[in-house]
Amino acid sequence: MKKLIQGVHKFQQEVFGTHQELFARLATSQTPHTLFITCSDSRINPNMLTQAKPGEIFILRNAGNIVPNYTDLVGGEAATIEFAVAGLGIEHIVVCGHSNCGAIKAVLNPELSRNLPALTKWLGHAETTR
Ligand SMILES: [Zn+2]
Repeated sequence: MKKLIQGVHKFQQEVFGTHQELFARLATSQTPHTLFITCSDSRINPNMLTQAKPGEIFILRNAGNIVPNYTDLVGGEAATIEFAVAGLGIEHIVVCGHSNCGAIKAVLNPELSRNLPALTKWLGHAETTR
């Protein structure tokens, strides 16, 4: 945790000032061009991967980059997609998977998530895909 706090201080002292105009503009509004849906995996960094600056991509992350079917039981994915498309006017949606995804491995081999009941239930949204 100490490393993360030091990173915030470094950002404030060394990075923020060099992009003040960008952050001042983003403080009041955002106009991202793309919704980027990807896995929560710590190895995926959408901004680094796409070289997008803050404000360019609207990001939705979860285990396995899964988008559940739309139902009356609305979750964060549906709300985020609705806001991105209808609220922000985003026209492009990218669903980005990755190699060695633990969630997708568990979809293919349910034994891997046997002791993780919430994850097992979540991965059920990918059953038809499996
Ligand atoms: Zn993954």
